[in-house]
Amino acid sequence: MKIAFYGTKPYDKIWFEPMGKEYGFDVHFIEAACSRETIFMAKGHDAICIFVNDYVDEEMINALYEMKVKAILLRSAGFNNVDVKAAEDKIVILRVPSYSPEAVAEFAMALLLTVNRLTHKAYNRTREFNMSLNGLMGTDLYEKTVGVIGTGKIGQAMIRILNGFQAHVLCYDPYPAEGLEAEYVSLEKLFKSADIISLHCPLTSDTRHLINKDTIAIMKKGVYLVNTSRGSLINTEDLIDAMLEGKFGGVGLDVYEEEEGVFYEDRSGDIITDDNLARLMTFPNVLVTSHMGFFTKEAMQAIAKTTLENAYALENGLPLVNQVGTEMVQL
Ligand code: NAD
Repeated sequence: MKIAFYGTKPYDKIWFEPMGKEYGFDVHFIEAACSRETIFMAKGHDAICIFVNDYVDEEMINALYEMKVKAILLRSAGFNNVDVKAAEDKIVILRVPSYSPEAVAEFAMALLLTVNRLTHKAYNRTREFNMSLNGLMGTDLYEKTVGVIGTGKIGQAMIRILNGFQAHVLCYDPYPAEGLEAEYVSLEKLFKSADIISLHCPLTSDTRHLINKDTIAIMKKGVYLVNTSRGSLINTEDLIDAMLEGKFGGVGLDVYEEEEGVFYEDRSGDIITDDNLARLMTFPNVLVTSHMGFFTKEAMQAIAKTTLENAYALENGLPLVNQVGTEMVQL
């Protein structure tokens, strides 16, 4: 099988290169992201392999179909970046539904602890022998009320971590899970009661801009917000307005509405044309990271393994257990 591997970074090759060889696949590593401009590079391949900030729209699906590309191998769980409906009956879409929920949950906690206890600022200060504590006061997580939105694999891992801090965990999910050490409540109660809110639901038509001026209005003043799910769960302009009013104690964002083309790239020498992103960076209590919650050795290895198993199953006519179907699309 010939695979066009878009958006290659050096760390992708660590596992994909040797594992791809073990399977006998011919993996063609392409640095460019998958887009309308680069889709022609898929010609001559049986499958393309893409990540979260690549996209495949209807026009690109049709181009792939004409090039006889049989599959889109997603190196991610989320598939909101592919037109699944347009691909029906033309191209098979396979994903990695689970790799390391703990990786993302642990990172959500890292973001929370950082914006709360300001270790990133302390690090810079002490390196310059500024040992003053002014402005570095945080709050205990112990006995705080934390709202977890979405109690799937990552949300549940986050709840386990929060219980270790002896926080009081409230949660919301339209499909509640059994046996969690957390209390299911309405979304409204969660927004009103939580000192900290962590988002762990997928991006769907129901969850787009879940955090907006109305929901922010009912949150407690000084609330902390962490988003490691998808940028469009938050209406960024509403978040900025509320930040300007001092609503939030701290905000940790691993994802951003307009992250495509910016995240995963070194833009340090460029003029930033995205005013909202630039504005977010100016707040002392906002921490933005570049969609890296998944980025652990264990998760990267698991992503490579499942992606290549998906390709193997397709090549050998085995059941496609990780296929994305139109019935899964809610956007
Ligand atoms: P999952 O499918 O196991 O869980 C998602 C949960 O969200 C499900 O329980 C579902 O019922 C719930 N949900 C659906 N609609 C909802 C709604 N309207 N309100 C509240 N909950 C709702 O997925 P997961 O593996 O836990 O991943 C969660 C999200 O994390 C993914 O959708 C993805 O966007 C994000 N993610 C981010 C990274 C990263 O690197 N930052 C990595 C992996 C996944």
